Amino acid sequence: MFENILRIYGLNPDETNVQQFGDGLINHTWKVETKKENYILQKVNTEVFKKPVDIDENLTMLRNYLSKANPEYLFISPVSASNGQSLIHTDAGYYRLFPFVDGSTSVNALTSKDEAYEAAKQFGKFSKILAGFKAEELNITIPNFHNLILRYEQFTEACRNSSSERLEKATECINFINEHQDIVNTYREIISNKNIPLRVIHHDTKINNVLFDGQNKGLCVIDLDTVMPGYFISDVGDMMRTYLCPATEEETDFSKIHIRKEFFKAIYDGYMEEMATVLTDDEKQYFNYAGKFIIYMQAIRFLADYLQNDVYYGAKYEDHNFNRAKNQIVLLQAYLKLEKELMN
Ligand code: ADP
Ligand code: MG
Ligand code: MG
Repeated sequence: MFENILRIYGLNPDETNVQQFGDGLINHTWKVETKKENYILQKVNTEVFKKPVDIDENLTMLRNYLSKANPEYLFISPVSASNGQSLIHTDAGYYRLFPFVDGSTSVNALTSKDEAYEAAKQFGKFSKILAGFKAEELNITIPNFHNLILRYEQFTEACRNSSSERLEKATECINFINEHQDIVNTYREIISNKNIPLRVIHHDTKINNVLFDGQNKGLCVIDLDTVMPGYFISDVGDMMRTYLCPATEEETDFSKIHIRKEFFKAIYDGYMEEMATVLTDDEKQYFNYAGKFIIYMQAIRFLADYLQNDVYYGAKYEDHNFNRAKNQIVLLQAYLKLEKELMN
């Protein structure tokens, strides 16, 4: 199956070993081993990314910029095939090949606050070294990805169109979301504040999008498909949503949901280690808003999907999206309780 693609990259299929690799949820990923070098082969998920060419263009722009501005930075961009292209289109889909970062590991669940620190430092470093790049030049690979105003509108629309059965079941959650609309209003303030710039933002700060070395030090960030112009609260907030709590959004025993304050400190310290000299004073005011921004948005998205019969996320069991929404609401409640203390 891969023969054709390997040949396009000038690799000999008879001397190449290809195996599924990693635990990414979006793209198909394989490790390609050759006598000389190892690679990551990826098939782009075109359900999520409608225009793979836009991603490829973004990576090229960033690579060109960094090759001058910061050549030492480990920027993982796709290698060119024999035809000079870094994105290959075949009947089977869109493919690209990255150099495999030898000696690297990635983790799927945080095991210590040191990992949170290292990851936050890497995501901070990424925005820092690209602070001189005009973020607006990047293609938008997922329109309105973190547009909370639109997400909130979609949620109210979902409430209007829901079956009465699901609407009734979700009443308490819907009320909670509506009672916390100040979170949407703060987002409005942020996007209209001229001292809060659009930056080059990663937008998918899951822990397995950071590569670590053998000593558990962060090496670099990977999975750059969602790199777009955005606000720093997106990356910081997504780290808070996914690093602060020991349980994931799939947990249905909500007693396991709590905030680990020392992980908040680790995210703050790691991110600020790089970004303290880059962020404006206005941005810094919103550091702990970031957590509630992203957790609230995720709760809305799960709830809206439940009300629309699970068309977007799908459901592995009857109340799957309802439970995910409740889980995120419990997380948000825990966050709001500690909000004032977290920055101390
Ligand atoms: P997805 O978008 O599906 O999450 P990723 O780009 O994150 O795909 O890749 C999935 C996994 O493959 C990563 O979590 C990591 O373990 C591994 N991986 C990806 N790129 C590299 C690379 N250049 N070197 C080593 N491992 C990688
Ligand atoms: Mg990934
Ligand atoms: Mg991805």
